[in-house]
Amino acid sequence: MKNIIKITLALIFSLLVIGYASLNLNFVQDKVFTFGINNLVGVNSTFLDDEDSLKVVVCGSRSPLPSPGRAEACILVEAGDDIYIFDIGNGSVANLQQYQIPFINIKGVFITHMHSDHIAELPELHLQSWVQGRDAPLSVYGPEGINLVTKGFELAYSADYSYRNEHHGDDLMPLNTSGFEAIVVKDKRLIKTETDGLEIIPFVVDHHPVNHAFGFRVNYKGRSVVISGDTINDGSVQQYAKDADLLVHSAINIDVLEKIRKVSHNEILNKIFLDIQTYHTPIKEAAKIAKNANVKHLLIYHAIPTPTNDIFEDVFYRGVDDIFPNYTPSVDGTIVVLPIGSNEIILDELN
Ligand SMILES: [Zn+2]
Ligand SMILES: [Zn+2]
Repeated sequence: MKNIIKITLALIFSLLVIGYASLNLNFVQDKVFTFGINNLVGVNSTFLDDEDSLKVVVCGSRSPLPSPGRAEACILVEAGDDIYIFDIGNGSVANLQQYQIPFINIKGVFITHMHSDHIAELPELHLQSWVQGRDAPLSVYGPEGINLVTKGFELAYSADYSYRNEHHGDDLMPLNTSGFEAIVVKDKRLIKTETDGLEIIPFVVDHHPVNHAFGFRVNYKGRSVVISGDTINDGSVQQYAKDADLLVHSAINIDVLEKIRKVSHNEILNKIFLDIQTYHTPIKEAAKIAKNANVKHLLIYHAIPTPTNDIFEDVFYRGVDDIFPNYTPSVDGTIVVLPIGSNEIILDELN
């Protein structure tokens, strides 16, 4: 018996050595490389699957304060096969590329408000969907003034549009589908989309001194998700999140922020850490909102400061369990699937 174990271990060891050594052979490298390339240009089977569902993917989980491995605010919602993106902060388009989303299926981008951490990568999203064959300028829904954001990006990227059109030709990157179509959203006014059964309802939240900040409720064939955007607890998210399957809420932990602020010797950071305390929802209040609104699950994103390790995370979320245990601190790639015709809430991670 001992001999069999010895022989088996020797065999496994030999195979590992041979496997490792073969990685130096050109034809093995070529095979692995081709496999990697195929994965890079394909579409992830998570999207465009046969099951009808409402899906939420966190494509950016951090606030503007740095947290390695995370992008700034971005939430992808897939209803059936159609994709809608809510905010597009720094780093989020690289995530969307890594998740192999079908950019061609993006039907619109919704901007909760015009802070830089929510709009920074509109031009990147524009490029990725343009090169994949978007058949019209990219629709961008947002607060009053959103046309200034899109016009500004169009102006800044006008040379880029012409260079790419000239280089790749009208078939691949025609100028008539470059640029944006800005659409102003209004409080409580239902947004019409081309997706059957989908309702998107914007509601005003208080992120003073940001004028016209919005949260969004998305209803699709009996399933629902609410995205808070950046806001204080002014009652509006609680009202619109009533009985929702999923509430995606931003949050601040003032105790944690104060601890950092008190040891910070940087006067500028010190002032910013104090200023930002006035226009976000404290984490325990986000938990209370979820409880009072009777939502089924709470997903926290845009945490301020965004935890950078497990202990930091434990400290940030301390006490939340006692108020509302059905919560998840999101990371980039957190996915929540809400199948149509059921009450199921499936949590997973892409990658
Ligand atoms: Zn923000
Ligand atoms: Zn903001």
